[in-house]
Amino acid sequence: MLELQDVTITQGAFRLSADFVVAKSARVAVIGPSGAGKSTLLSVIAGFYPAESGRILWDGTDITHIQPGKRPLSILFQDQNLFPHLTIAQNVGLGLRPDLRLSPADHEAVSRALTRTGLQGMEARKPATLSGGQQGRVALTRALLRARPLMLLDEPFAALGPALKAEMLDLVAEITDETGATVLMVSHAPEDARRFAPETILVAEGTAHPPHPTTALLDNPPPVLAAYLGQ
Ligand code: ADP
Ligand code: MG
Repeated sequence: MLELQDVTITQGAFRLSADFVVAKSARVAVIGPSGAGKSTLLSVIAGFYPAESGRILWDGTDITHIQPGKRPLSILFQDQNLFPHLTIAQNVGLGLRPDLRLSPADHEAVSRALTRTGLQGMEARKPATLSGGQQGRVALTRALLRARPLMLLDEPFAALGPALKAEMLDLVAEITDETGATVLMVSHAPEDARRFAPETILVAEGTAHPPHPTTALLDNPPPVLAAYLGQ
């Protein structure tokens, strides 16, 4: 369970407050107008940016001041780059061993994960020889292989076409269902939220609201969300 207790975030003139709980193994979309603070919220949960006040807890443990690499989470951003000089297997293996000292068992785990994301046989290739969609899968494979209990996705598949994006969302849902991971996914597309996330956090007008059933929220949006959705 992820808890944000009276968290306030400031960034220059920008202010955001958050006070909510995300249940274990939940899949939650994060939507709201551009500049509302969705990425900032994820950065604070990940520990890349400090909260001004309040506490962040994972399963009851205060992680507010834990350094990012020690938090129980993995992150996937849209522009999360692959290292061009490393092979696909090495790029994925970084999720297991940041020093790249992969044991034979690690190599097997990497190959199994690549098979899972439809990239079997590509271990020895370099990122530049893959399509954009395949590169997105490599980054996803690395995040999945880290197998942390909380996964933060910030518009991870925004560069993909609709069919490929839907396929990737289904894959993330399938794998995190198996591992029991909790997922927060920022998206600007309401159809992604409907497809992927039973609940949605609305970030707007200085507040990150508690998770709300996605269908109810999108079918009957508050004015700020209706304006954003163009309704
Ligand atoms: P979103 O992801 O919802 O589009 P962001 O979290 O990126 O929004 O940005 C939230 C607010 O913080 C915006 O008003 C933005 O202008 C401001 N902001 C983002 N990055 C910085 C920064 N490095 N310094 C100061 N303000 C920033
Ligand atoms: Mg953003």
